[in-house]
Amino acid sequence: MVIILKHNATDEQVENIKSHLINYGFQIHESKGEQKTILGAIGVKPNFDTRKVKILEGVAEVYRVTAPYKLTSRDFKTDNTIIKIGDYEIGGNKLVMMTGPCSVESEDQIYRLAKVVAESGSKILRGGAFKPRSSPYSFQGLGEEGLKFLRGAADENELFVITEVMQISQIDLIEKYTDIFQLGARNMQNFALLKELGNTQKPVMIKRGLSATIEEWLMSAEYILSAGNPNVILCERGIRTFETYTRNTFDLSAIPIVHNRSHLPVIADPSHATGLRDQVPPMARAAVAAGADGLMIEIHDDPENALSDGPQALLPANFLTLVEELKSIAKAINREV
Ligand code: PEP
Ligand code: MN
Repeated sequence: MVIILKHNATDEQVENIKSHLINYGFQIHESKGEQKTILGAIGVKPNFDTRKVKILEGVAEVYRVTAPYKLTSRDFKTDNTIIKIGDYEIGGNKLVMMTGPCSVESEDQIYRLAKVVAESGSKILRGGAFKPRSSPYSFQGLGEEGLKFLRGAADENELFVITEVMQISQIDLIEKYTDIFQLGARNMQNFALLKELGNTQKPVMIKRGLSATIEEWLMSAEYILSAGNPNVILCERGIRTFETYTRNTFDLSAIPIVHNRSHLPVIADPSHATGLRDQVPPMARAAVAAGADGLMIEIHDDPENALSDGPQALLPANFLTLVEELKSIAKAINREV
């Protein structure tokens, strides 16, 4: 149930409304927007008479949220969520670029690529230290050593870090090195992991599951928000369809749909969506045009010998060209790169 407060509601009235809600057995989440303050009451029984709340002083409107996700929905929070890491914003007018190799392979490799990332104007360095690989014989990541290299390379170039957490036991370790947790597509419905990430306050980027519907994806965000962490970013990275000419099918329509239904920022990942280098720039351009709040793009300076995802990595020079192209597309829709 969503309770929209009158703009002139007094503190006393708000407290009174909250104590009524608590007495009725609801869990309350407050969202203070520029235009209005909204209370989300979680745990509405099917036969609860919403008029009991409607008549309280200070209440403007009350309605039930029919979608199964509540805190994630636009009904609960009208303004876009802008996630802050220090002064840096994710979800604002300026697009965020999360750039780097698929895996951290060596100290040298990540330091070289972090330089390219900084040169491009991207502010977030990506790189996996714990890798979810389809084959147990493939490179599994450098683990903590990789995290150290990643953090060092980011610090030297004044970048933030995003890296994947695969299991609960890695959270404390990864939290020491990263600014954003990446929850991989294969873990999107690892509910135990979602709950634990909800207990942290660090931003979490949830990649859409390989065959997850938009609703399932938003429900995963709901797990984190309802556990108390409001800093959730969504990432469309392609879904599995019958098509074989691409690694996945990039669901660009998910971007405006999510923006319509949710207040959370949406990042697009054309690298994993297409799986092939030559398809990355056109789909990156399309994602910006579709309204993505940023992009995640894999780069490598020796993709032939990359330990993971070489075929989809852009060469540094190609990435720098792409960023220039994205600037004019962003400008056309009144945004900036
Ligand atoms: C990655 O970002 O390298 C990755 C493994 O992504 P996904 O979870 O989307 O496959
Ligand atoms: Mn990858």
